[in-house]
Amino acid sequence: MIPLIALLALVSGASATFNMIVITDPSGKDPNGAAAASMSFAPNMFQSTFLVSKKLHVAVLAGGLSKGTARLEAILACIRALELGEDIESAVRAGISRSPTDRLLVGGPGKGVAVGGSYDIAVVIVKGNKIIIKQYHSSGGPNIVRIPKNVKCAVIHLRNTPGNPMYGTATKVRIEAAIMAGRMIRDGLPATEIVTRIMGYVAKKSGEKYGGGVVNITAGLSTGDTFVPPKLNARGIPMDTAYRKVCPKCGWSVAYPAASKYSRCPVCGSSLRTEYAWQVARDMITVRKDQPIVRVYGIKSVYDKVSIVETVQTLVQAGKKQPEDIARAIDSDIDNNTLLGYDYILPGDVKVEPEANLITIYMRPLPEGYKKPPLKTPISPETLHSLGLISSAVGVALIVLGGIRELVNRRLRAW
Ligand SMILES: [Zn+2]
Repeated sequence: MIPLIALLALVSGASATFNMIVITDPSGKDPNGAAAASMSFAPNMFQSTFLVSKKLHVAVLAGGLSKGTARLEAILACIRALELGEDIESAVRAGISRSPTDRLLVGGPGKGVAVGGSYDIAVVIVKGNKIIIKQYHSSGGPNIVRIPKNVKCAVIHLRNTPGNPMYGTATKVRIEAAIMAGRMIRDGLPATEIVTRIMGYVAKKSGEKYGGGVVNITAGLSTGDTFVPPKLNARGIPMDTAYRKVCPKCGWSVAYPAASKYSRCPVCGSSLRTEYAWQVARDMITVRKDQPIVRVYGIKSVYDKVSIVETVQTLVQAGKKQPEDIARAIDSDIDNNTLLGYDYILPGDVKVEPEANLITIYMRPLPEGYKKPPLKTPISPETLHSLGLISSAVGVALIVLGGIRELVNRRLRAW
């Protein structure tokens, strides 16, 4: 793993300045009852490791002052403790002892929330109609704040990144966000709705707005790499900006930048509704009975992902949910140049899991420079896939960074 450490040294500092966990159903029965999110003004937010264990139903959010490797050690120590069945508070303690200037925020349904290290948090607890808000500060070390297992709660950490033009807003926005979260919990909104609404608000009001991502802790859904930076030392997607336009009547939609050319639906003529990044994040992690969750791997841009998800959801709502139907629809997008730079879908590239309401699609990107799939390829799809990714040093770096996440994910899957 030496090249990995060397590589991390080349990556400029990344730190989540907004971390949030919301639990509206501590029993874990509501599939939308626990959620977590991270954002920052800083670049490299794919490095702000952000995990969810499907089996243990827990999210581990991190941020703070150290450089990449120390925080990674803290995160791994925390996960190791959770793997051994320790309480979230001792897991946070184990992690922070490795890197006292960092922050770990850990929680899930039936577990409560624990936060340790360096933080500025507002804690919201809702009992019946009563909203209790307290604030805590720690500049590092073993001071742990622990929220008990069976309460409806929200924990919001917010600071401003030096250089953010809205520097100085964090204290005010943190408390406003806490009040909003408290009211939404009291009014019965699910955690997935609350966490993404607060994300949009905090992004707009504090400038700590770049993804990052969001997870549904109970259902184990994540926005994955949708909002993280496209390359090293860059910023992710701003969560308060317009992301796509949707027709409220027929469901037609188009992502930005292409969306700026449309004001009316080309299918039915209705005026289009603009959706912001935080709303798209909400839809990605919310479990709905009528709509399948679509996961896409191997995509080259977030716009491609949105387009594929739209195609699949429209198809399923029309009653076509066989892998062959889905493969045919995506292939026709490739033929029509709606999707550029991908090979045709094979039957094994689409996985439909009706009981989880989940559809997974593995796209196979073509090498740099190829817009259309070759008619017949002598190279295996796997090689094409690798060539497509290893087209630059940045590509290699992202694979390595992706390797960290993969490594950590694999550990989590082993639980
Ligand atoms: Zn329409």
